[in-house]
Amino acid sequence: MDAVVCTAPGVASVEDVDRTSPAADEVELEIHRVQLSVTECALFAGEDIAHADSVTQRLDAGPARLFGHEFCGTVVKCGMDVTSLAVGDRVYAPGKIPCGDCAYCTAGQREYCPDKTYIGYDIPGALAEYATLPAVALRRVPQTLSDAEVAALQPLASSVLCVHNSPLNPGDVAAVIGTGVMGYQCAQLALTVGAERVFVVDVDAGKLEIAARRGLQPINATETDPVDEIYARTGGVGADVVFSAVGGEQTHATSGDDPVAQAVAAARPGGTVVQVGYIIGELSFSARAIRTRSVTWQNPVTGVSITGPGRDTGDLATELVASDRVSISEYISHEVDGLDNFERAVEITTNKPAYNAIGPAQIVL
Ligand SMILES: [Zn+2]
Repeated sequence: MDAVVCTAPGVASVEDVDRTSPAADEVELEIHRVQLSVTECALFAGEDIAHADSVTQRLDAGPARLFGHEFCGTVVKCGMDVTSLAVGDRVYAPGKIPCGDCAYCTAGQREYCPDKTYIGYDIPGALAEYATLPAVALRRVPQTLSDAEVAALQPLASSVLCVHNSPLNPGDVAAVIGTGVMGYQCAQLALTVGAERVFVVDVDAGKLEIAARRGLQPINATETDPVDEIYARTGGVGADVVFSAVGGEQTHATSGDDPVAQAVAAARPGGTVVQVGYIIGELSFSARAIRTRSVTWQNPVTGVSITGPGRDTGDLATELVASDRVSISEYISHEVDGLDNFERAVEITTNKPAYNAIGPAQIVL
């Protein structure tokens, strides 16, 4: 089968590799679509961010099948112990794979497992015609979702965790700083748990227009001071919960303002700032601003959490899209055909504004 194989940072080609027979607890998938993530593109470029160590280790060991943790595939073969999935099921992978053996996993706190396996970093992902993965990592999706939506579901599973971990209550005022993929999702999720009003702050008028169509209240940071605006529109109170959804280098965001400082300032005394984005580098916000106003800075769990008997946040993400309570299709703006266009997809995802892309590019197999 064809697979993307990396040999050094920034160097990849499509090679003919053997398919892997599924072990007892694994399934083999035929891959339909892969959505790249910004993190994967930065790692491919050789940037020193999270997972850089495992990527370097694997490249040092020889040609490596890296990346491809956001995908849509169909089960074509099941290992003999697999009962959760059947041939023909369409699936995605909501998060990392907990080890199952450590003190956290055996205590039912698999979100905190220190020995998680990351698809596409520790083991080969879906940048291939077929992928063999542990069944425990996968969730079946309803037929009403398009392949493109399924390939874009993984970030929503993470957003679901951010909102479920937050103290947001029905009737609360929420604000979201940054309407990238996860910011837009968190804002819609805040409405699903009963937020009375959700402000969304960005510098991109197009994204704010999309948000307004979903009942969110846009604030354009190029036209007004977003913190002043949130106080003005809440009678001087501020937001109960603020989602800080700007990742990467903070100086590149919202016209040079520090987004975390903005989020802290927008939270009311006793409020909470939920850190959604993964920040690269150090922060410059004042710890005193949090302490004196008793603001909680919350860093949500990652992976997948149980939400009830037989259900978890990975399943919930699919249900929210299937019922149109959360929409993700607006951020699927660019697709390329075939694995040969992997580097083209990386280029679009890395330089979105140059291509008028608002979300990452997808590769159609
Ligand atoms: Zn574990």
